[in-house]
Amino acid sequence: MKLYNLKDHNEQVSFAQAVTQGLGSQQGLFFPHDLPEFSLTEVDDMLEMDFVSRSSKILSAFIGDEIPAEILETRIRNAFTFPAPVKEVQSDIGCLELFHGPTLAFKDFGGRFMAQMLTHISGDKPVTILTATSGDTGAAVAHAFYGLKNVRVVILYPRGKISPLQEKLFCTLGDNIETVAIDGDFDACQALVKQAFDDEELKTQLGLNSANSINISRLLAQICYYFEAVAQLPQEARNQLVISVPSGNFGDLTAGLLAKSLGLPVKRFIAATNANDTVPRYLENGKWEPDSTRATLSNAMDVSQPNNWPRVEEIFRRKIWRLNELGYAAVDDETTASTMRELNDAGYVSEPHAAIAYRALRDQLHPGEYGLFLGTAHPAKFKESVEEILGQTLDLPEALAERAELPLLSQFLPADYAALRQLMMKPRD
Ligand SMILES: *Cc1c(COP(=O)(O)O)cnc(C)c1O
Repeated sequence: MKLYNLKDHNEQVSFAQAVTQGLGSQQGLFFPHDLPEFSLTEVDDMLEMDFVSRSSKILSAFIGDEIPAEILETRIRNAFTFPAPVKEVQSDIGCLELFHGPTLAFKDFGGRFMAQMLTHISGDKPVTILTATSGDTGAAVAHAFYGLKNVRVVILYPRGKISPLQEKLFCTLGDNIETVAIDGDFDACQALVKQAFDDEELKTQLGLNSANSINISRLLAQICYYFEAVAQLPQEARNQLVISVPSGNFGDLTAGLLAKSLGLPVKRFIAATNANDTVPRYLENGKWEPDSTRATLSNAMDVSQPNNWPRVEEIFRRKIWRLNELGYAAVDDETTASTMRELNDAGYVSEPHAAIAYRALRDQLHPGEYGLFLGTAHPAKFKESVEEILGQTLDLPEALAERAELPLLSQFLPADYAALRQLMMKPRD
């Protein structure tokens, strides 16, 4: 697989390089040089396959001979260990539930596949993953790498500033997962990570990697569940399909567009955001004017400068699609809450992110079309706000309830690079 840097098309890398490097020069994103396409009959055949076999076919179309097919399939089997069911919400609308993985959010798909690819590529060489989290990413990274050989994971988070349940989710694992509560805010944690990546000695000695969210392996993995969704739909729905994606950094939407470019029959996508509406405003008036980021109920989408937007534009450019065919909507907190109540009355318990996608879909779906919205997180993950909005209590899924009983294993550090460096360099027992 060949990829190029969107900031400098002359910088070309292999899949292995893109996965280990993350970003190109000038912080440029990598983008596939070739955009494979399946024929109609190939797509029909693929929709009959099981999730893992189909996903192997999709991913090997991109990755090519850089990873032998059998190895790739084994790695996918290790990563995709949970289902992505479509639940019917109304006669013409379904929710693609992407939250049945270990950290109850769709980021498990990308995170776990990235972990499999990084460990395949690094072979027996030890790697250290260092990352800072304000909550969710840390959990996904920790669970994705948990128990993998030759991988040490160090996760920094702001002490006392993440929810108790979030903390339990990834700070109780132990083994190769080290969690460090920093006396400072999230920015302080991120600054420490930056300093570590500027420390050449530390970087080479530990084989430092950031496993961050713009990694191309994550996006490729996410293509697979769009096919899995369509495979579950009746034939009539397949040709009239509109998919609404709750968007923050626009990785999920990028993956959906790549699925369409492979030949998946999707009539149209809707990009649904919260009040952080840089993209909806841009699609409305052609001006890219990010505001400062606003805190909303759907906090995983509180992004005003979406990282993956250049990839979205590149797909439209390469495929010669028209950007004005992309649906969009920005949904405020009040409407999000009333939509959650509307869904609850219809018998479907949802959380703020999915509710935003549903709202945009319900408002924009035409008669005769079939709509899917992505359920990006389990409602229990946003227990406090969901309970308050719906006025009812939620049960924790069993895995989470058990984890909530376990002791925290985090170490504590001041927001001081020397202290972090010492911790990183200390040989482990
Ligand atoms: C990360 C996240 C999103 C946004 O996904 P992007 O790929 O960043 O657009 C939406 N919902 C939930 C629950 C998330 O965790």
